[in-house]
Amino acid sequence: MSAMAKTVVEKAEQFLDSHNPADGSVVGSARVSSRDEVFKAVADAREAHDLWRRISFSERRRIVMRARQAIIQETEEIARLISKEMGKPVAEAISMEIAPVLDLMQYFAKNSKKLLKPKRRGIGLLALFGRSSTIVNKPLGVIGIISPWNFPFSIPLGEVVMAIMAGNSVVLKPSELTPLTGLKIAEIFETAQLPKNVLHVVSGGGDVGAALVDARPDKVMFTGSVATGRKIAAKAGENLTPVVLELGSKDPMVVFKDADLDKASSAAVWGAFSNAGQACASVERLFVEEDVYERFLELLVEKTDALKLGVGTDPENDLGAMSSARQKEIVEGHVAAFRESGAEILTGGESDDSNFYPPTVISGADNSMVPMREETFGPTLPVASFETEDEAVDLANDTEFGLTASVWTKDIKRGRRVAEKIVAGTVMVNEVVYTHGIGQTPWGGFKNSGFGRTHGVEGLMEMVATQHIHVNRFYFLPDIWWFGYSESALESFKEMTRTYSTGSLLRTIPFMPRMLKRLRELMK
Ligand code: NAD
Repeated sequence: MSAMAKTVVEKAEQFLDSHNPADGSVVGSARVSSRDEVFKAVADAREAHDLWRRISFSERRRIVMRARQAIIQETEEIARLISKEMGKPVAEAISMEIAPVLDLMQYFAKNSKKLLKPKRRGIGLLALFGRSSTIVNKPLGVIGIISPWNFPFSIPLGEVVMAIMAGNSVVLKPSELTPLTGLKIAEIFETAQLPKNVLHVVSGGGDVGAALVDARPDKVMFTGSVATGRKIAAKAGENLTPVVLELGSKDPMVVFKDADLDKASSAAVWGAFSNAGQACASVERLFVEEDVYERFLELLVEKTDALKLGVGTDPENDLGAMSSARQKEIVEGHVAAFRESGAEILTGGESDDSNFYPPTVISGADNSMVPMREETFGPTLPVASFETEDEAVDLANDTEFGLTASVWTKDIKRGRRVAEKIVAGTVMVNEVVYTHGIGQTPWGGFKNSGFGRTHGVEGLMEMVATQHIHVNRFYFLPDIWWFGYSESALESFKEMTRTYSTGSLLRTIPFMPRMLKRLRELMK
């Protein structure tokens, strides 16, 4: 070997400690994946895909259902791991993550075959000329999934299930705050005997996520902040890798005076403070009709004051620690900004130097205040009043985001009407937050909340490439638009625009003699 020979430097392995935000203790650690390992994971997954895409739907279904069973057997343990890694109550890890994702798993295990089966597409009058079109859905190959810490189990797992049921292999990069929950997903599928390399979990921070995008998977499913989403879309664009972006939001809740105020106030409190407000669909702006505004504030304060803040592993606590000191700092900054802009902190708003932050209700907010425009992602509930339906819609839409929204009224007709006027991927009437838990329905945002969908048939379709197979059974005839142009051909084409192009058989019948004439000319 020449003096220029490559010297191989053994790099020391790096480990990522996962800390419990409630007390700072180390929950465990994960080995950080090197850039080379990420590239190898994608290459191995691509090789595995070649086999996996040929595996029958029934075998894929068996594996997903076995994984589901493994989760059921370990529910408590998984929920405790989630709670320790990111702070949420064990109860929420079960009710908001494990239970919904188990339902999603059974749904896609049982229905993906039907949802993805080849379908005939009507092609109008062309069918009379021996043509047919079939739409076939083909797996894309390797799906790169980059996920956040706030629902560290259900978000990536749901996407893994949809990807593999559609015949793809997956490389998953979970958040650096919750690496162990990510690795748990790999372990579950190992228990379920998913063939080797169909699912890889790589661990590390943003650089590992960036390496995954650079490694050119066939699609990137990203869930996280707008800032990271922009970076990923730009990078993916260099290789023309398609991306789905599930980003942040500033979701509004609108309460009309005829709403069931007791239920609506409980919903607002849960919608703003569950997961310590760290849900992309959290209620981040509450608009209440003027006539019931004061009464509603009283209900909010009363219900908020009854909440218990403490370690997530204690079943009596409603709110756990925030996921990180950084996240808590954002909340503190937003509460300070509300104070400075003249809003009033009705309860909460003070904390010690732990990662716990009390649920905080703020009145007198308005959309001009900075924390009414930027995502807070914490346990704050700013409230403003409105006078008319139109004003409520304008206030709800006055944001760069559009993930979900919630409208409360006993008048369902009005609820639907207002829902349709709000620009958001999901609008709930007399409900808040929870539709990510309905695997059957599409999930995704408008505006800066992202594009593309997860969940539902729309989410499943993100995992496939649509192929159009077109067959001509009248192969023994030339097409009338082929070469052999002439004055007479031109006349035929002109007549075609007036007849055939209308899509009406009746109006096309007079075109038949000219068409036959054209055919005879071509076959001469
Ligand atoms: P984040 O953007 O900081 O990180 C998300 C993931 O991206 C992590 O795994 C991170 O390591 C990775 N990452 C960071 N930089 C990267 C880069 N340059 N290239 C590739 N990957 C990179 O977000 P977060 O703090 O983990 O999550 C909170 C955000 O996620 C909030 O804004 C929230 O609204 C949003 N979110 C959206 C949805 C939704 O469905 N729309 C769901 C949950 C969370």
